[in-house]
Amino acid sequence: MTEANNNTHKTLSIPVYPILIAVVAGGLIGHYIPDFAVKTKIFGEIFLSLLFVLVIPLIMSSMICGVTSLGDIRHLEKLGLKTVIYYLSSTLVAVLTGLLLVNFISPGKNAQITQTEFPKMNYSIVQTPISGGSILKLSAKTNLSSSDINPKRNTVYLIDQNLIGIIDDFGTISSEAIPITQWLNISGMKAEPKLSGTGLSIKTIDKKLSVTEVIKTYVPRNIFRSMINENIFPLILFSLIFGTVLTTIGEKGKPLIVVIEAVNITIIKCVILLMFLAPIGIFGLIAGSIGDAELTNPNGFLAEMTRLARYSATVIIGLIIHGAITLVLALKFIGKRDPIPFIRNMIPQLFTAFSTGSSMATLPVSMTLITEKNKVSEKVADFVLPLGATINMDGTALYQVVAAMFIAQIYNIYLGITEQIIIILTATIGSIGAAAIPQAGLVTLVMVLKSVGLPVEGIGMILSIDWFIDRCRTTVNSWGDVVGATIIDYFEGK
Ligand code: ASP
Repeated sequence: MTEANNNTHKTLSIPVYPILIAVVAGGLIGHYIPDFAVKTKIFGEIFLSLLFVLVIPLIMSSMICGVTSLGDIRHLEKLGLKTVIYYLSSTLVAVLTGLLLVNFISPGKNAQITQTEFPKMNYSIVQTPISGGSILKLSAKTNLSSSDINPKRNTVYLIDQNLIGIIDDFGTISSEAIPITQWLNISGMKAEPKLSGTGLSIKTIDKKLSVTEVIKTYVPRNIFRSMINENIFPLILFSLIFGTVLTTIGEKGKPLIVVIEAVNITIIKCVILLMFLAPIGIFGLIAGSIGDAELTNPNGFLAEMTRLARYSATVIIGLIIHGAITLVLALKFIGKRDPIPFIRNMIPQLFTAFSTGSSMATLPVSMTLITEKNKVSEKVADFVLPLGATINMDGTALYQVVAAMFIAQIYNIYLGITEQIIIILTATIGSIGAAAIPQAGLVTLVMVLKSVGLPVEGIGMILSIDWFIDRCRTTVNSWGDVVGATIIDYFEGK
């Protein structure tokens, strides 16, 4: 591997300034010319797909190379233990930072609630024979906007008829009319509603997610299915076991190790090539999503941020404290690294995380830069980073604590010390369980809310800006992974 890497060092000049320009230009064009900006989304989507296509071969080959290069299984155990302990501790610090801030700022006190229950509202249902669905018409305007209702996460509940309406993903939602594809009764069977009535509410789809279910998704069952579902942890486990056993078969295993190493080096080279397209991809991702937000939120993205200003500010301040202070101090004093050049080398990684909203998509960039530019040993990076991308989400954990406490404050539900401890634990588990893809943390937030009996509907209030908060927390998630790998590398070097 060393020889090939010497080659890559010579060619490694990832464009930092074009990426910075792309971020600023993307934000400005998304805000001022949203119609044009959404058309550039395609560049972002292509970039994202090209990153994703590298993730699985990269993770599997790096993990196997990582294990085979460690040689001794006892060494692997020690490294694994160090990694898990470090990542858990940094997540816990992030959670505590979030908890302190949210108690101090109290963003939910006196905040306006977007009402999601309308017990006295009259409604009528107009069938739409062509689409086979119906439109739920409300007798008066509500304060609901299309950004408050997400067909993937919300349903409509008719209180008087005890029926659930599945919202049409392709229809236009307004404050007076909601398109419905079908009506279901409480047991999930299709039902015919009466065409008028009184009382409805917007519900959040209750994805059942328990700790045991989270654990089950971590065990490999069919590696191809895990690849298709981009379910990374089972692949990591499989590669670990495969790599370990491969080292025990002696001479016979060597040719395969050489092949897997070649795959690994090739993928890293592909990442380096892909980074030349990063400015265009990052521009498309940022312009596209800001443009989308401008077009779908009647008042625009900034107005939406202001509506939820105290909540967003609490999460973002928390993320800055954790990412720019705690982790940087850890890097300097525990990892013994000079933060400024280290961060400068990682700029493309930070912006890839921000623009993709996925620590998994960012992994190829993190691995390449941390080994090539910041000289963390491949042995450690190969093993620690893929694990970090899946289980270490400091930003997500911090956000979940703030979101849960914010929802409690809005609904005026008092949470004592016991409940806050439960939130700390479930947010840590929720962040471990969240997939490293955009907005996955929102799904495990349901688990956090339910653990202390908070209304799941509360998620509706933070939905409209979650895409933005997601990008901020993903940046910290991914940054936390590389800081972790660097610190562990320092201790390994000792
Ligand atoms: N998007 C985040 C990540 O990939 C996960 C989340 O918090 O939604 O790290």
